[in-house]
Amino acid sequence: MTVEAADHKNVVIVGGKLLVSRNKLTPASFAGHALANYLATRVPATYRVILIDRSAFALHAPAMVRAIVVPGTESRNLTAPITQETVFPANSRHRVLAPVAVRELSRTSVTLDTEFEGSTELPFDKCIIATGATQPHPLRQLAGTSLEDYRVILRHTQEELAAAKSVIVVGGGGSGVEIAGELSAHYPDKKVTLVHSRTRLLQTASQSTNKTWGFSYSPIPERLSSSLEEQLTRRGVDLALGERLVFPSGPVQDTEWDGTHSSLGQLKTVTLSSGRTIEADYVLISTGNIPNSSFVASADSGAVSDAGYIIVDHTLRVVPSSTESPLAGEYYSIGDVAATPGRKAASTANMEATALGKLLVAHLTSGKEMGQYSPTRMSGAVICLGQPHEGTDLGAGVYSFPWIGDVAAPQWILRRMAKDYFVNQTFFARFVGERKIGPEDG
Ligand SMILES: Cc1cc2nc3c(=O)[nH]c(=O)nc-3n(C[C@H](O)[C@H](O)[C@H](O)COP(=O)(O)OP(=O)(O)OC[C@H]3O[C@@H](n4cnc5c(N)ncnc54)[C@H](O)[C@@H]3O)c2cc1C
Repeated sequence: MTVEAADHKNVVIVGGKLLVSRNKLTPASFAGHALANYLATRVPATYRVILIDRSAFALHAPAMVRAIVVPGTESRNLTAPITQETVFPANSRHRVLAPVAVRELSRTSVTLDTEFEGSTELPFDKCIIATGATQPHPLRQLAGTSLEDYRVILRHTQEELAAAKSVIVVGGGGSGVEIAGELSAHYPDKKVTLVHSRTRLLQTASQSTNKTWGFSYSPIPERLSSSLEEQLTRRGVDLALGERLVFPSGPVQDTEWDGTHSSLGQLKTVTLSSGRTIEADYVLISTGNIPNSSFVASADSGAVSDAGYIIVDHTLRVVPSSTESPLAGEYYSIGDVAATPGRKAASTANMEATALGKLLVAHLTSGKEMGQYSPTRMSGAVICLGQPHEGTDLGAGVYSFPWIGDVAAPQWILRRMAKDYFVNQTFFARFVGERKIGPEDG
């Protein structure tokens, strides 16, 4: 513990409130990191931000769709180390703890899996849970995976996909469509089938308990789905819409799909719900997000929705199931893990981070009640179909504005996105520490 930290804590206690300490706790993520950046320069000097992540490196998730397909993309423009030096400026009182996982939540403290300042119990004044969601491996790193091991896994996936003759991508949400786009752009002669349970691409189940908020975004415009369907079909991608893979109910023959995913080793017959069959030697799962909320459910299962999202009120504060709940303290939640309104996307996570940052700063500086979050009704969905060859389609996007309606994303946005998924603007720019990072960091 530095002298600075000790001084800082003493000032907090002298601050006169019934607080054990004045730490704000956020896991590092799109939402958590953006919030940490916002708070770091604005919270009263008696507070410090502690940014925690169970991973030692952050992923630029939007670029993952390319990193699993195109050789060489696993080590550039994709990751960044989460360290004190990359996140906060020199001599900052704020702290980064990574790789450190939060194991348990109590009323005024959390339990870490690693000691910090001599203890695994870390007291807080506010705790913001922004632990995101898990996607099927390898679209996200598993907890505890080192960067070196993760790159090996990504290279292995690229090699297997390169060797595959026929790939089935399961899930026609944003990631699945982009993976089909990357595969068809990089391997124009490979057979790619995109299987989606809904009758049009990007149409998905509702992701959060928006009913709490009486708010819903406009649905994905049909013309965005049909534009992507036309473009993929022109490239030769086979679209199996309104279909599901039929998992075998018992033992299967060597030539039949056994329900596993990744490389199947040889061409196997995969049966779809309509009875249609496809020969494939690779099955890539890109279905849905599973919120990382199990440690919250362990503290209070009633604070988590059936779908696993952390229930929050209009101040983004976690709603405990009773006043006895460990979560009846100062817990907040934003991003993919929270049952906030809107599509689960980096843009939503960032908006929620800024909104919560403003509410917290106003509350901490004025001492008044927390204000309420009003989600914007603006939304956008931009889907890029890989690095285009001369004359090929780029993908499509739509921005939806209240009163104005839907506006198509301009081609330059798609071209820019196809280049590197806006890595500088939306990923590297988040790291404002004394050690600058860039493409060569991975
Ligand atoms: C393949 C793919 C493509 C995507 N493309 C786009 C796109 O083009 N545009 C867009 O807007 N969005 C896109 N998204 C969605 C976007 O990445 C997410 O919405 C965004 O990352 C959510 O941010 P978050 O901060 O809530 O969670 P994350 O960014 O997932 O961050 C959560 C963090 O919490 C950490 N964590 C989890 N559990 C613990 C714990 N117990 N203790 C400590 N730390 C923990 C994790 O290590 C992680 O760093 C994409 C996602 C994927 C997977």
